[in-house]
Amino acid sequence: MAGHATLFLADLPNPAIRIERTLNTIESSFTGGHAVMSFNDLRLPADAVLGEIGKGFRYAQVRLAPARLSHCMRWLGSANRAQDIATDYARTREAFGKKLGEHEGVSFMLADNAMDIHLARLAIWHTAWVLDQGQRASNESSMSKVICSEAIARVADRSLQILGGLGITRDTVVERIFRDTRAFRIYDGPSEVHRWALGARIVGGKM
Ligand SMILES: Cc1cc2nc3c(=O)[nH]c(=O)nc-3n(C[C@H](O)[C@H](O)[C@H](O)COP(=O)(O)OP(=O)(O)OC[C@H]3O[C@@H](n4cnc5c(N)ncnc54)[C@H](O)[C@@H]3O)c2cc1C
Repeated sequence: MAGHATLFLADLPNPAIRIERTLNTIESSFTGGHAVMSFNDLRLPADAVLGEIGKGFRYAQVRLAPARLSHCMRWLGSANRAQDIATDYARTREAFGKKLGEHEGVSFMLADNAMDIHLARLAIWHTAWVLDQGQRASNESSMSKVICSEAIARVADRSLQILGGLGITRDTVVERIFRDTRAFRIYDGPSEVHRWALGARIVGGKM
């Protein structure tokens, strides 16, 4: 079916499949990075096709909700790590006559982090529960993706801030979490596109 996506498997190396270049990206969490690929005159046997010809997009859609949720889970772990590192620092570092964490400006950031982490965890749990009921969880996974990517980015940002100059070095993993979580608000659909899709369903009476 011309113009419709098809999923297939192909052994590598194959002269018809080329990696044109590997992109330099803000994040570093995917092994091997992200590549621009080209496919030219690729010939495959019929049994290389996964499922049916022309249904690739539909198959890919099925994995969207669980895949989004696994991104949310991974980044929730990163947020917890950033919060732990920031908390250790706030408990031990002294500034202006007392521990950093005894300054309200810092303890409030730790409290806001705890609330964002809690919110993200509850959104993940609820979406996982809806998926467990056998539903597609399109709305829930969209909401969770936006809630988690934005909440976790706030946690990374505050944690880096608490670490001061140390935060912008690569001496802790918080700098990397900050960069990686920025990309999370773009891939698997930017926040605006999820809001747009949710808004359209609300206005159309489907949600
Ligand atoms: C390195 C890399 C890795 C990726 N990995 C994945 C992945 O693992 N899984 C995956 O699904 N995708 C992945 N993507 C693709 C990613 O989901 C897209 O880049 C993203 O959906 C945005 O599409 P676009 O880049 O074409 O931006 P554009 O469509 O050009 O949009 C640019 C910006 O415009 C705004 N915008 C777009 N549409 C609307 C709208 N309807 N309403 C309001 N604002 C809007 C948003 O702010 C958006 O960020 C990856 C992309 C890159 C570069």
